[in-house]
Amino acid sequence: MTRASSSFSSMSRALAVAGAALVLASCSSVEQTAQDRRMDRARWLADSLLVLDAHLDIPYRLTNRMEDISVRCRTTDFDYVRAMEGGLDVAVCAVYTPQRFEGNGSPKQFALQQIGFTEGLATLWPDKFRMMSTTSGIRAGAGKGHVLFVLGMENGIPLEGDTANVRLFFDRGVRYITLVHTRANTLADASFDTTHRWNGLSPFGLDAIDAMNRVGMMVDVSHMSDSAFYQAVRRSRAPVIASHSACRAFTPGFERNMDDAMIRTLAAAGGVVQINFGSMFLVDSLRTLMAAAGPAINAYLREHNLRSLDEEAVAYTRRYRAEHGIPYATAQDVARHIDHVVRLAGIEHVGLGSDFEGLGDDLPVGVKDVAGYPAIIAELLALGYDERDIAKVCGGNFLRVWDAVTQVARGLSH
Ligand SMILES: [Zn+2]
Repeated sequence: MTRASSSFSSMSRALAVAGAALVLASCSSVEQTAQDRRMDRARWLADSLLVLDAHLDIPYRLTNRMEDISVRCRTTDFDYVRAMEGGLDVAVCAVYTPQRFEGNGSPKQFALQQIGFTEGLATLWPDKFRMMSTTSGIRAGAGKGHVLFVLGMENGIPLEGDTANVRLFFDRGVRYITLVHTRANTLADASFDTTHRWNGLSPFGLDAIDAMNRVGMMVDVSHMSDSAFYQAVRRSRAPVIASHSACRAFTPGFERNMDDAMIRTLAAAGGVVQINFGSMFLVDSLRTLMAAAGPAINAYLREHNLRSLDEEAVAYTRRYRAEHGIPYATAQDVARHIDHVVRLAGIEHVGLGSDFEGLGDDLPVGVKDVAGYPAIIAELLALGYDERDIAKVCGGNFLRVWDAVTQVARGLSH
């Protein structure tokens, strides 16, 4: 090989490499443009459609540590500014009572205080937040610059064993009750609890469901054990909701998520599953990694007298994840779970139930806060969902179920 031909061939190699790089660059820029276009459209959709998130732990989070959520906040998942960026119209605020209150102090008073506190937020910033307790009010009030606060109740122990309290909380604006939380309570068995105290629902749990049907309170099956779930669907004369659960098909053995048979059963009864955004709910490998990291993280929290949602605890978890290379789920994973429900049960039975303010450092990339709904919508667009489908997922389905529950209550009162 002569010097000239060698330099010619190396030049042509260089050209070929440069050409390939150009092709690759233009492919990725075509892809980039498509993604940008989807994101623009997603933002527009989030702005123009009614976006409802069925589960945010705003009251508990803020009663523990108040922040000014009327401006952009550094430490919360929710504030007014980011809610507007994300197109959020309705935030269902979970009035959460820790299980330690059962038989210990007054869970009812604790829940009432959180209700008063949430109403106080709307009083403090009336141009930004409004309390809402009817679907007609939501349909009329959405898109006018407010975040509408609806109340839900997580853990049924504030009922204090008396079905009359279902009416009391309904009259205070609560529209769903998650019967149980992490441990079996006086109403039901919990998914995280292996003691199976009731083998499903307790007699009071069954009575509570009847009372909820009578007043038009939605029954929330998130956190229930599998048997409690099936008994609740059988007992309830109205469709039920799962306010913040995901699909067990992606996380085998994780009972906190719903398996395919449960999703089909819930859908056949007219209900809706609102998908939880937690990385551990969405991706099995992340759940395994975080479960393995649990003892080390918990030891640190104990040593420093921290609770898992304290700012310092969340920061430590974030550092730990970075140091140990534990990633997060993505908006695509959220969309995958939504799509799974749609494939199983159709477009009418799925929605959004982020669990914002309740997950700590476990939120997906791109969906770290309430500005993140468009990222999920963009992934739904990529999967071929159209505006009508997306409107159902973003709130239409939840409102339909709420209306159905109200209708059943009207029927029962005649
Ligand atoms: Zn929860």
